[in-house]
This record gives sequence, structure tokens and C-alpha cells, in this order.
Amino acid sequence: MNAVRGARIGSLCTVTSPIMPTYGRTDLSFERGEGAFLETTDGRRFLDFGAGVAVNSLGHAHPHLVSALTKQAERVWHTSNLYRIPGQEELARRLVSHTFADTVFFTNSGAEAIECAIKTARKYHAAEGQPERYRLITFEGAFHGRTLAAIAAAGQEKLTQGFGPLTPGFDPVPLGDIEAVKAAVSEETAGILIEPVQGEGGIRIVEPEFLRALRALCDQKGLLLILDEVQTGAGRTGKLFAHEWSGITPDIMGIAKGIGGGFPLGACLATEKAAKGMTVGTHGSTYGGNPLAMAVGNAVLDVILEEGFLDNVTQMAGRLSQGLAMVVDTYGDIIEDSRGSGLMIGLKCRAENTAVRQALLDQGLLTAPAGDNIVRLLPPLIIEENHVTDALGRIEKACLALREAQANDIAGAPHD
Ligand SMILES: *Cc1c(COP(=O)(O)O)cnc(C)c1O
Repeated sequence: MNAVRGARIGSLCTVTSPIMPTYGRTDLSFERGEGAFLETTDGRRFLDFGAGVAVNSLGHAHPHLVSALTKQAERVWHTSNLYRIPGQEELARRLVSHTFADTVFFTNSGAEAIECAIKTARKYHAAEGQPERYRLITFEGAFHGRTLAAIAAAGQEKLTQGFGPLTPGFDPVPLGDIEAVKAAVSEETAGILIEPVQGEGGIRIVEPEFLRALRALCDQKGLLLILDEVQTGAGRTGKLFAHEWSGITPDIMGIAKGIGGGFPLGACLATEKAAKGMTVGTHGSTYGGNPLAMAVGNAVLDVILEEGFLDNVTQMAGRLSQGLAMVVDTYGDIIEDSRGSGLMIGLKCRAENTAVRQALLDQGLLTAPAGDNIVRLLPPLIIEENHVTDALGRIEKACLALREAQANDIAGAPHD
């Protein structure tokens, strides 16, 4: 790739800007995208294995999504939830028919979907005459979004520091430790909130047996099982929703990211029983489920539910992970392991993950960071074999470049 102004491609942005500086941004801006590729304003092409952090599930400018959005844009954009919204009823009906759920509340984001899930769980016990049962057991390393309740639920200091008194009611325990979960259950426990694969936390896998044990515990103690499938949902792991791999179903589930394919869209799904407290006037959203979002959400589902679509995800995931295992064999000094589920893959780095992401960027491959020194690969679900081969080639080149740079550093280091 061409170097810009003698600097590394897309080095961290130092431009003063009126944007609140809460993100460390890469100095790249994209003008157009097509499928798995993005093109910058100055014409450089990147293979997009970050997909806007698992959002562009069908890649960029998917013709079916473009057509659904533009058709809807010519009719009606917004009416508010004071009226019936046909696209909303249709998308809800389809989500219900493909999941455990009986009812759906639409939001604009993942955090709002999780807020709705937390409120639904608390309200259930209140409606059952036990308002003292409001606490949720959560897991260390979790991520549920950036609202006050969502950061309290995740509990990580880097999210909560300085934001004042935390929303009470969350009891974090170590991931995968069923005894710790059992010990944390009290008279005040309303339920358990978990990501089927921790995304931001570093692609930390949750064993199917663990999810089954949580389901059993919830049934035994009258708790609600809440899944955060904001990142794992909408086909990302090769099933429509990741919990299907374990054979269990939750009582409540938050989704977002991939279901909107790039349009802000989330949802909270629940069984009729779990949602029993969510009656007229208890919750709302001005934009949630608006006609534009619904047109896109329905179009995303059209494609994901097509025969063979999820099989392709699993096949591409298999090829990618096979190739990555060979990369780990050859370049174990740079990447020590790869792990994940479907097209949600974490490269556990031995080098700094920021350096690895930069080296991948230099080879024209976009990725996303994650905790635990992970580089996340979250390609669009529409990738084909040539994209996998292309990505693996770029990853190998990046590893080789990093290894050579390290060798030069050592050779160039002063001797004593
Ligand atoms: C991204 C994410 C969220 C938050 O979604 P936003 O749309 O950023 O609010 C919540 N939970 C998980 C698991 C996520 O990956």
C-alpha cells in the first residue's frame, strides 16, 4: 500500500476536531464500499474484516439492502410508535417465528436493547409481586454497551471510572464458574445476563455446557436467563443466534449490530411470560422500530434466512480457522493462537495487538481490537473463498513484516 505523507497508513488521528475525543481514531475515511471492500477518499482499497464491528453483516452496498432502504425512503421515514408500523409487525413476527420469543421491542442500538432486557427482567419479578428481586448475575470481562446500566452490568473499571454512583443490582462472577454463579444467587436475584461469546472482552468462548448449566439453574430458582446476542446474533456464529449451538433458549435476548446491516437497529426479544410486566406505558422509544430501520431489518433477514446462507458462514469460518492455524504454526512469535465461533474470530497476539492491527492495516486489511490483547476478525457474512485466501495472504505478510521489524530492532539495539 502507498504510504501517506511518509507516515504509516492510517496512523492515529492527531487532527483537532470538534468531535468529543472519546475514540482513538485511525486517520482513514472511506468514500464507498462494495461487498467486503472499502475504498478511501483517495482511492485506496481495503479488505474489511472488521465490518464496522460486526455490523455490516452483508458487507457494503448490498443491492437488496440499498433497494429496501431507498424504496422505503420514498414512502415514509418516521411516524412514531403512536401508530402501527407494518414493517415492525412483520419483522417482529419473523423474529418470533425463528426464535424462542413471543414478543419484540425495537431499539436503535445494542445498549438500548440491553437496557430493555434489564428493565423487562426487573419488571417481571415486580409483576410477580417480588420487586425485591432486581439483581442480575453478570460475568467478568463482559461488555453490554455504554449506558449507565450497561456499564454497571459490565462492571469493568475502564468503563465505569468517574461516572459517579453505579446503577445498583449487578453481581459479577468469573466466566465459566458455575459454583460462583450458584453462590451469587440470593433472594434478590432476578436473573443472569451473559454474552454467548464475549466479544469486546476478547472473543472469550462460553462452553455450551456452561449455558446449559445456567439454564438449569434459572429453571430451578425461578430466574430469568438473559442473553446479550448483540454481537453474536444475526448469523455471526453460523446459527441465526449463537445460543442455538447449546440447544438452550433464553427468556430474554438483546440483539443489534448485524440485524441492521449498518442501519441503527436493535431489539429486545422475550417470552410472553418474561415480558409480563411490560404493559402500556412502561417503556418506549421515539425512533425505535421506525419504518426505515424496519425496511432494512427485514431485508437483512431475507438474505440471512435464504437457504444455504448460514452454511456458507460455517464453511468460510472453517477455512479461515484452518488457515489461521497454519499462520499460528508459522508465526507463533506474532500470533500465538486463534479462537472463536463462526466468523467471530480472535487472534491472540504475542506482539502488541495495536502493532498487529497496524501491520494488517499496512497490508490493506481492516480489523477490530478487543480485550486480552486480541485482534478481532469480523468479516461480513457474505465472504467467499477468494476473500478468505486474500485475507490469509495479507495476515501472513503482516506477520512477516512484524517479525522482520522485530529482528531489525534487536539488531539495531545498542550493545553493551
Ligand atoms: C456492541 C455491543 C453492545 C452495545 O451496542 P451499541 O449499539 O454500541 O449500544 C452491547 N453488547 C454487546 C455484546 C456488544 O458487542
